[in-house]
Amino acid sequence: MNIPETNQPRIVIIGGGFGGMNLIKKLKKTDYQVVLLDKRNFHTFQPLLYQVSTSGLEPESIAYPLRKIIRKQKNMHFRLAEVHRIDTQLQKVRTDIGDLHYDHLVIATGTRTNFFGNKTIEENAIWMKSLPQALNIRSLMFENLEKANRTEDPVKRKELLRFVIAGAGPTGVELSGAFAELRSNVLQADYPDMDTSEIEIHLIEGADRVLPPFSKQSSEKAQKFLEDMGVTIHLETLVGNYENNRVTTKGDLVLDTATFIWSAGVTGASIEGFEETALLPKLNRYKVDRYNHVAGFQNIYAIGDIALMETEDFPKGHPQLAQPAIQQGKNLAKNFKKMLRKEELEPFKYFDKGSMATIGRNKAVVDMGKIHFGGFLAWFIWMFIHLWFLVGFRNRVVTFFNWTYSYLNYDKAARLIVRPFKQNKIIAEED
Ligand SMILES: Cc1cc2nc3c(=O)[nH]c(=O)nc-3n(C[C@H](O)[C@H](O)[C@H](O)COP(=O)(O)OP(=O)(O)OC[C@H]3O[C@@H](n4cnc5c(N)ncnc54)[C@H](O)[C@@H]3O)c2cc1C
Repeated sequence: MNIPETNQPRIVIIGGGFGGMNLIKKLKKTDYQVVLLDKRNFHTFQPLLYQVSTSGLEPESIAYPLRKIIRKQKNMHFRLAEVHRIDTQLQKVRTDIGDLHYDHLVIATGTRTNFFGNKTIEENAIWMKSLPQALNIRSLMFENLEKANRTEDPVKRKELLRFVIAGAGPTGVELSGAFAELRSNVLQADYPDMDTSEIEIHLIEGADRVLPPFSKQSSEKAQKFLEDMGVTIHLETLVGNYENNRVTTKGDLVLDTATFIWSAGVTGASIEGFEETALLPKLNRYKVDRYNHVAGFQNIYAIGDIALMETEDFPKGHPQLAQPAIQQGKNLAKNFKKMLRKEELEPFKYFDKGSMATIGRNKAVVDMGKIHFGGFLAWFIWMFIHLWFLVGFRNRVVTFFNWTYSYLNYDKAARLIVRPFKQNKIIAEED
């Protein structure tokens, strides 16, 4: 890997997501050698992936080069590498570009899409967990619109103009809202020779409400927003399969569609090499203590979505959201510095800043402790917070410009098919 050997203890961090990036930022100018490994050379701001899928933002606006974070830091190195295994005996990570020894290892690999064992859905549905996948959705949507515009077969057209999303968590809700907005604000004008009222958006959810982790008030508000925008919601409906352009459910509902997006769950992106006491098998999350030590190890840590820390307030672990990952990354950096000074370590305490989801123009919901509100104020706060947390000044400026332009002109910038839609298997291999 061509990493110099030094006298400094080596911290290897796997994953430059919210957790890994916040950790490495705080380790600048410390007496550690820090090596960041990631299978991509950029950080992805996942909360805005849906805007890339629906033409609201260009992909570059929500990505940030990982090498830029470690610029001018002599003690820091980045390698583009996928880690396949961890050898805890030899203290080595095994990657597609070679092995690397660590003194301390931090696993911050986040999650991958969970298909709950359904191979057919995994192969046929589209997923949205990365930038290439978000772009894939964009291509498929516009390819299907083009095909629908030229077909004279009404059955085929219906299938091409029906968009079905499984999972009404924040991703599914935001995605359906953005599709609905695109339909009314942009597509009507772009396709004057097509009846865009034929475009259907369906959101399928197994629970009895949309946004199940949110308060009941926010769920109800979000559902009303979506219905007003013309999204058809199917609650208490479990998807059975998706094959030959047909979604079947465990009830009576059957939907023929050429666009089926799976946003119904995630599982930990774990790495092999651990016993079940450390890597919880069903959840695929590493069990950690209050200092993020992986169970049974004093020099291996897990942070963010991949870590499961049981506390009194969160007996099932923290929610798999950006804030716990950011806060754990920062706390672990503080503890690494304390280790150098031989000071007592600080246990992690999560500060819950609340949850929010946007449904469309002037429409969002916010839960902050016992306070719940929706509408314009919630939408404004949502925008402000997302701009604030976007990584990189350039990204903030470009996103702010794009949003302002879209707001004033009812327009979306990036409705392009840059490269043709590719089946999941191919995109997952390239990704
Ligand atoms: C579509 C979507 C929308 C979301 N919306 C919101 C939201 O609105 N608000 C919110 O708070 N949270 C949201 N989340 C969740 C949030 O993005 C995650 O909680 C957060 O990214 C977790 O941070 P992390 O550092 O644990 O992992 P990630 O940010 O996922 O980073 C993991 C990193 O590890 C790398 N990696 C993985 N495996 C390997 C390997 N084997 N070798 C090398 N590198 C590897 C990946 O390339 C990636 O860079 C959303 C997630 C998705 C997918």
